[in-house]
Parts: sequence; structure tokens; C-alpha cells
Amino acid sequence: MSALPVGATIGILGGGQLGRMLAVAASRLGLKTHIFEPGSAPPAGDVAHAVTMAAYTDAAALKAFAASVDVITYEFENIPTSALDILEALKPIHPNRNALATSQDRLTEKTFLRDLGLTTAPFAVVADAASLDAAIGTIGTPAILKTRTLGYDGKGQARLQSPDDATTALDAMAGAPALLEGFVDFTHEVSVIAARNPDGAVACYDPGENLHADGILRTTTVPARLSASQRTDAVLLAGQILNALDYVGVMGVELFVTSRGLVVNEIAPRVHNSGHWTQNGCTIDQFEQHIRAVAGWPLGDGTRHSNVTMENLIGDDMDRVPEAATSNAAIHLYGKAEVKPGRKMGHINRITGPA
Ligand code: AMP
Repeated sequence: MSALPVGATIGILGGGQLGRMLAVAASRLGLKTHIFEPGSAPPAGDVAHAVTMAAYTDAAALKAFAASVDVITYEFENIPTSALDILEALKPIHPNRNALATSQDRLTEKTFLRDLGLTTAPFAVVADAASLDAAIGTIGTPAILKTRTLGYDGKGQARLQSPDDATTALDAMAGAPALLEGFVDFTHEVSVIAARNPDGAVACYDPGENLHADGILRTTTVPARLSASQRTDAVLLAGQILNALDYVGVMGVELFVTSRGLVVNEIAPRVHNSGHWTQNGCTIDQFEQHIRAVAGWPLGDGTRHSNVTMENLIGDDMDRVPEAATSNAAIHLYGKAEVKPGRKMGHINRITGPA
């Protein structure tokens, strides 16, 4: 793929905060963005060159969108297959279809990771009470039952402390195909944000350490608590995943740190909440990096110049703005009009020192 010229247009599926920050990064590079979003008042719409508000089932809107852009990317992985079929015939989509399909289904994802030789939680497919019993027999408890598709921020998950929890957990899946995962005894969670461009160049950011509450990311801190060899392992396995998928763009790789090494939890084929710290910790942040990759431009390196703690502003956390804007705190707000419990409204990157 030849590099897109300045002035070219990048189509972004999804108009949330990730799309918004991608659009800002693209505009800094002299590129235009066109957002496709089914909902109303998309946060990315404030900062993009063009917005189409239409359903993913609207074939005419999808075709017109594709005709107006040079390349297509996305900010979330649950794009309906039928929409991709239409778009893919008209314009290149990065990251590719295989990367999307791999991350859309936890079974495909875990199988792919295991086949690469990486460590995942033990897993087994669950379709009904009998297969759940069988899965508990092989995996044991504690365990977590997760829907295979459409899970995010801890939604679509049920914990089983003992086999007695089987019925309640299965009910929580509401009939959706599921996967039982063995409980990983981790000390902490980290993620690697990694990028690959069409030439096969790879750049990884320093792993960040993630803290969740109620299944939602609260903070990411760099540097993470990792030994030098764990840090190398984390970055190498991310590169291995990108190469195996012939990936173009930024990916988030979530890892559990255990006494027996790193366990891959999941991959996200997009810019990632746990990579927001790069906006103020690195010269080239994850959003510019993703735009560079999908535009076929050279990647920036991932070198970190500052130590950062990123804190998500969720729901009422917004009440702390603007007081939270202390001299070492970069505030990033998403322009969402309505505050709702659990809704990501913005984030703060606090610089805690030089790297
Ligand atoms: P996920 O949606 O798969 O990222 O899961 C959300 C959170 O649940 C993770 O960040 C972990 O804190 C926890 N979790 C998920 N899977 C496991 C597992 N197999 N063992 C232990 N904790 C898990």
C-alpha cells in the first residue's frame, strides 16, 4: 500500500471518544476524517470533517460513506458482518477482517492465541447446562462464564465460586453461546499497546498497569510493575500477535501477570482505553500511531518520556472538573452532553515524573 497523501480522508466506523481522539490526531496530520455512527450526537462528530448518522443496515449510506473516503478503520470491534461485506468491496479496511473476526468471538480469539503458543486461561465452550457441567469437570472452579461475543467492560460475565453457581451463571448468559474460563490467579493486570504498519514495521509502547472497578478500567499507570524480562516478553508476544494477523493499526493486548509468567486475557483490534496515557507520556500517541499505520505512514517509536497515571472520569467523576485540572494534569473530555453512571466522560493524564 502506498502512503496516503496529506488531505486524504480516513473513514472511521464509530463516533465515540476513541473515534473523536482519532479524528483529532488525523487532523494534526493534515488528514480528514468521516465518521459513520448509528447513534445521535456522536462525540467524534464535533471534531470530524464529515459525519454520517445511519444504521449499519443502511446499505446506501454505507456505500456513500465508502465512496467518500480513502481508507476505512474503526473504533470498536462489534461491527456487523453485513456492513463489512459492503464496505470491504469498496475500500481497504484496517485492521483487516481476520483481526476483527478473531477478536469478536472469545473462542476464536483464545484458540488463535493458544495456537500461537501463548498462554491463556484454560477454556471450554458452553452451550447448555450439560456442556457447562462438563466444562466445570475439566476446568474446575473458581471460573468465569463469559458470552462468546459482544462482551465489554465486564458485561456478559458471571463468576462461579463453586459448581453450585452453575445455574445462576448460565441464566446470566440469557441463552447466548458462552465460554467457561478458569480463574487466573494474577497479581496484577497490564496491557501492551502495539502498532504495525503495512510495511510490517512494529512499534510497542511500554506496558501499562491497569486497575479495574466493577469491570471498568479506572486507572492505567506507567511504568507497570514488571521485571525487565516480563517487559520484554509482553512486547514480544504483542509483536507476534500483530505479525500472525498481518495486522495494520494499533492493538491493545491485555495481560495477567502471574508467578508463572504472562497470561493473555484478550486483544482489542483498535486504540485502547489503557493506551490513553500515551497522549502525554510519548511524543507520538496511540491515536496518531493508528492513523499513521492505516495511512501507510512511517510509525513513531513508543518511547516514553514521562511517567503517567491515567484516570478515567466515569459518571459523576465529572463533578471534579475543572478543579482536577492541576498543573501536572492533562484533561481530556469527550464532549458527552449527558452524564450517566458508568459512562466514560473523559480522562486525566497525571504526569508523575520524568521516565
Ligand atoms: P474481560 O472482559 O475478559 O477483559 O474481563 C474483565 C475483567 O475480569 C478482567 O480485566 C479481569 O480483571 C477479570 N477477569 C476476566 N477473565 C478472568 C480470568 N480468566 N481469571 C481472572 N480474572 C478474570
